Order: sequence, then structure tokens, then C-alpha cells
Amino acid sequence: MSKHKNFETEAIRTQIERSQFLEHSNPLYLTSSFVFEDAEDMRASFAEEKERNIYSRFTNPNTSEFVQKICKMEGAEDGYAFATGMSAIFSTFAALLNAGDHIVSSRSVFGSTNSLFNKFLPKWNITTSFFNVNEVDNIEHLITSNTKILYAESPTNPAVDVLDLELLSTIAKKHNLLLIIDNCFATPYLQNPIAFGADLVIHSATKLIDGQGRVLGGVTIGKSDLIREIYLFSRNTGPALSPFNAWVLSKSLETLSVRVDKHCENALKVAEFLEAHNAVSFVKYPFLPSYPQYKIAKKQMKAGGNIVSFEIKGGVDAGRKFLNTLKMCSLSANLGDTRTIATHPASTTHSKLSAEDRLEAGISDGLVRISVGLENVKDIIEDLDQALKNI
Ligand SMILES: *Cc1c(COP(=O)(O)O)cnc(C)c1O
Repeated sequence: MSKHKNFETEAIRTQIERSQFLEHSNPLYLTSSFVFEDAEDMRASFAEEKERNIYSRFTNPNTSEFVQKICKMEGAEDGYAFATGMSAIFSTFAALLNAGDHIVSSRSVFGSTNSLFNKFLPKWNITTSFFNVNEVDNIEHLITSNTKILYAESPTNPAVDVLDLELLSTIAKKHNLLLIIDNCFATPYLQNPIAFGADLVIHSATKLIDGQGRVLGGVTIGKSDLIREIYLFSRNTGPALSPFNAWVLSKSLETLSVRVDKHCENALKVAEFLEAHNAVSFVKYPFLPSYPQYKIAKKQMKAGGNIVSFEIKGGVDAGRKFLNTLKMCSLSANLGDTRTIATHPASTTHSKLSAEDRLEAGISDGLVRISVGLENVKDIIEDLDQALKNI
């Protein structure tokens, strides 16, 4: 599948075939299986001589529509949809790696991805070496003859660092590695890693793709031969996205561009407000001119996204006090919701790491992550301002 119409149009007009009722909005296909005309139809379907739905662990019209839309938005050949972002990440590794293989990853990755690398994949003798986001020169030194995958998020969660996708792709190609990018923070609207040379792209659809904090979902898209391996693994092991969640997510994609435009507009204003505040020692937002990787962000992203991280003067205590003083913003583990959410990684998601390991991953003691929502930005800023005044 390739991009042919404009993004917003693809998001709205990509639809599975209408039923005999000629519905305008797509129905929900809550069915675990599909029927066959006769024994020959059943044989041919299982032999994959025809493309059709058999069982919803394999494919379902709602999940297919969701996958087709994401493929068009990302310029990908094919994809498979998962129950969560983590099942997308795990199944992708499980399908493509063998015991003894090695991964090179950015150190700054989502907490559960980090657990996968350090705790679970080693059970199958799959090991990972990490590079710091500001030391990409180190990547080639970490590559061994067993390395199969180069993995990164951009922007990273929670530190909001950006990695140069073109550079990562050059390194991956030179050493014959698969480049896999977790594109969750950017969404298919702001950044298309495949255009910069990624082989596979993963999304947690739970975040901005749903955008309203309702359902979990995930997807892996990219080269069709790789997706075929991922599909075969998944159809046998069962991490499939539910048709209901696929229906919700496909509807959400219709409004992704307008929602993300507004999220980014609000986030930039929040970032500018925080940067000028004297209780804040630094702000990280990809489209602030002071951002260390500003040029790279401008090269590969359409706008800066909805996540702003900043350092409150006063470390862990100030970070916790700030959260306790917020009146409107939610304290929640999700992000990319219509509601603005604040978290303090050092005392929560990353509290198990040593202070030193946290710093290596870009998480300082007073770092606060704000997922800027769609409320009126004046109200968001007013809440942040009163909390900063009262710490
Ligand atoms: C949330 C998140 C995930 C995991 O997604 P789930 O849908 O919660 O399983 C993976 N990567 C990033 C960057 C995330 O923010």
C-alpha cells in the first residue's frame, strides 16, 4: 500500500467494503469467526489461496481497516494490529529474533520496553546493548556479529529527546540491521520513519491515536516480508487487537490530524510559558528553538508533538509537591488524552532505577512530563502557573 491521496482524506476515506445495507459509517464486526461456502472454500481459505477472513485472531474487517489506514498514513506496505503497544513490541521481537541474537537500543525507551530488554528477552538469550541519545557516535561500537535490530523511540518517553532517523538508518543499512522505530509520540501525522529508512514502525495506539483515553491498542507496520513473519507468529500466539477497539481506533484516525494540530499548538504555548518561568530550570520541547536537537526535529517532524518535559528547581520533593498542587491537570499514567496529564517519572515509572541510571536515560530528579491536552490553553497554563507558585 502506498500513499496516494492527502493524509486527512486517506484517514477519512479508507474504508472496508460496505455490507448489503450500504451503511455510511462502518459497522462493528463483533464476530469471532466467519463462515465458508463449502468444504472447498474452507480448504482454499486455509491454504491462503484466497484473501478472506477466517477467524478474528488472524484478521477481522475492523482490524483490517485500522491497519490499512495506518499503512497509508505511514507509507508502509503492510501491518498487523495488536491488543496493546507492548504486545506489538514483544511480538515483533519474538517473531524476528532467534536465541542468541542481539539488539542495540537507545537507552531512553518506554519503561515496559526497558523491562522487556533487561528482564524477559534475556530468558531466551536475547541481549541488548544501550546507547545514550546524545552519544550516537557510540552505536557502531555496540554492534556485534549477532546484532539483528537497531531500536529507538523518537521522541523518547519520558525525556522527550529526538534521534536522527536518517543517521540511524544509515548505520542500520551499513551493518545489515533492521531499523525499528517506536513512533508513538509523533503519531503517523507528524513523522513517517519509513521515509527516513526504517524497516518497521510500531505504535501504541492507546495514546494519541485513540486520543480520548478509552481503549488500548498497538500496531506494527512496514516491509511486507517482515510483517508476514510477524503475522504468522501472531496468528498462532494470539495478541490480536479486538474488533471493538479496532473500530474505535479507526474512527479516531479520522480526526487525528485536527486533534494533533491543536495538541501541538497548545503544547508549544505551554513550553514557551514554562521556559519563561523562574521556578523551571529547563524545558524540553522539540519545536522550541532552545531544544538541543531542534534542527533534527524540524527535519523529520511536522510539529513538536504534545509532550513537554521540564525540570523544576528543587528535585524530587519539588516534583512531587508540584503534582500535589495541580488543580485541573490529571495525575495519570496515560498520555495523548484530550485531558492534560502530569507525571513525575523519578518518583513513579522510573523510581526503581538508580539516580545515575535515570540520568543516563535523561530523567533528572525534578523532571515533570506534561501530556498537553485539548482544554483551552489559558486554563492549562493557569493551573501550571498556580502550582509552580505554590511549590
Ligand atoms: C505507552 C507506550 C508504549 C506501550 O503501549 P501500551 O499500549 O500501553 O502497551 C510503548 N511505547 C511508548 C513510547 C509508549 O508511550
